[in-house]
This record gives sequence, structure tokens and C-alpha cells, in this order.
Amino acid sequence: MPNDCLFCKIISGEIPSKEVYSDDHVYAFYDINPAAPAHVLVVPRKHLSAVNDQSEEHEALFGALIVAANKIVGRLGLEKSGFRYVVNTGGDGGQTVFHLHLHILGGRPLGWPPG
Ligand code: 5GP
Ligand code: ZN
Repeated sequence: MPNDCLFCKIISGEIPSKEVYSDDHVYAFYDINPAAPAHVLVVPRKHLSAVNDQSEEHEALFGALIVAANKIVGRLGLEKSGFRYVVNTGGDGGQTVFHLHLHILGGRPLGWPPG
């Protein structure tokens, strides 16, 4: 775990966050600068820099990330209205924090295509 990683520090509690969900493999918290009424970041406790920074051993972790996100969507009551999962990756993808995270966005109609 790189000790300069913002999300590793959030997972360890060194930097405070508003927890939404936690299990052995995944931690989720509210985005500090919400882009929608519901905006949650779902991160693996293990440091992976991006969604494609992986090997076969991480297959189960990717499943855990989506399963956790689905639980959070249920808790936030977004199932009926709909929602979006986003994984920004690299420069063109708009990634700014290089610890894999899945955005859950909901609570308003979301435009398509994204900017
Ligand atoms: P990215 O642009 O890498 O896909 O998303 C990074 C997200 O992390 C952004 O939506 C940004 O608002 C959020 N973020 C950045 N710093 C913090 C922080 O210190 N706390 C929380 N809760 N979210 C943060
Ligand atoms: Zn990290």
C-alpha cells in the first residue's frame, strides 16, 4: 500500500470519511464533492491503482466490489429510480485518485453521453 494514497488513508481511518458500507474486502463512503444527490465511492481495501491494474487473483475482488455496490444501491433506495456505476480510468477517463474506486451516482436523471 503506497503510504501517499488518499483512499488507503481513508480506509485506515487516518483521513475521516462518511462511511456508507464496510466489509472484509470493501469500504464505501460519500464523495466529498458530490456530482449527484447520491454519490458514493466503493473501494477495495486492497490497493489497486486502477480497474485494469489486476491479475487473475483479483477476480473475486471485482465481484465483491459490484455485490457491495448493489447492496448500497438498495440501502440508498435507488433501485426503482435507477443509478449509474462509473469507473474513471487514466487521464482521458478523468481518474484523479489512483486507488480503484467505483462511483455510485443517483438521485437525479443523468445525462448521456458523459462529457
Ligand atoms: P475520480 O476522479 O478519480 O474518478 O474520483 C475521485 C473522487 O474522489 C472525486 O469524485 C472526488 O470528489 C473524491 N474525493 C477526492 N478527495 C476526497 C476526500 O478526501 N474524501 C472524499 N470522501 N472524497 C474525495
Ligand atoms: Zn490506495
